[in-house]
Amino acid sequence: VSARIIRLTAGAAASEVQATLQGLGLWTQTMASSIGEPPALVVAPHSCRVDRNALLALTGVADVLEPPSAHPRVDAQANRGVQAGPVRIGGGAPAVLIAGPCGVESEEQIHAAAALSRAAGASLLRGGAFKPRTSPYSFSGHGRPALRWLREAADAYGLGVVTEVTSETEVDAIAAVADVLQVGARSMQAFSLLKAIGGAGKPVLLKRGMAAGIEEWLLAGEHLLAAGASGVIFCERGVSGTDSSTRYLLDLAAAALMKHVHGQPIVVDPSHGTGRRDLILPLSRAALAAGADGILVEAHPDARQARSDGPQALPPGLLRELGALFETRRSDEYRSRQA
Ligand code: PEP
Ligand code: MN
Repeated sequence: VSARIIRLTAGAAASEVQATLQGLGLWTQTMASSIGEPPALVVAPHSCRVDRNALLALTGVADVLEPPSAHPRVDAQANRGVQAGPVRIGGGAPAVLIAGPCGVESEEQIHAAAALSRAAGASLLRGGAFKPRTSPYSFSGHGRPALRWLREAADAYGLGVVTEVTSETEVDAIAAVADVLQVGARSMQAFSLLKAIGGAGKPVLLKRGMAAGIEEWLLAGEHLLAAGASGVIFCERGVSGTDSSTRYLLDLAAAALMKHVHGQPIVVDPSHGTGRRDLILPLSRAALAAGADGILVEAHPDARQARSDGPQALPPGLLRELGALFETRRSDEYRSRQA
């Protein structure tokens, strides 16, 4: 069975324990035990995730048997958050903003983007130096020089750096400058790349593949942690949908599941998720309401000039508006702590 099983103490009234469990959001069915032994309770799969120790503390509960997990290292980082350069992501830390252009296009562009990101309250600067592109003729990044521009721009504004690794041969060069290594959606199941990236011992932002299931995503995280990554931050960026009005189908249910059921640090990327800047603010609000620990967006100082993903790049004004959302949340949290 791949379900939690609750063993009852001798003489416990199963129906009373079941009522208590239901109050905690756990639906159970009794399972007959050997003659003379109390029945066991099988927890229905979509029950709320309640900590094992909390269950063990209940009257009538003798033991809680957990099904074996295929991703023990991912489970072990649950509810703890991951240190990502200057900030902590998840584990109850305030939501973070990660912003920057799709690609690092020039020294000037990334400096301007860093300034805007900082002004909007971002803590990490994003930008691809190595870009995976659908067409071999599209701009695919300036490579190593862009890494240096990215780091210098981030340092000038007190930001951390997150950037994508597309090849095993670039892991060391990227790990030397970035605070967080990004695995792109197209690479989520490139297992030898995951192993090489994990081997750098850094935190990794793991984008969900556009056709990947949740268990596959968790297992990709397990690959990274098994190889030595210091932590994995999951990033929902949309899956293949049925309609071309949006680029992908942003799966906020998956984000809520990763946060509330699996306890994983989860960042939502509405930029790639929708492909259009007009939907980024409403979906950022929705993602934060669903429990996202961070929002990753593309922003460009002059979006019309962007060499990739221009239609989804936030112009300075919209990035500031997005940043204000985080300000409001921070002051709300502050007020509720004071109250
Ligand atoms: C990106 O973040 O620029 C990117 C290429 O994203 P994804 O892998 O989600 O398409
Ligand atoms: Mn992009």
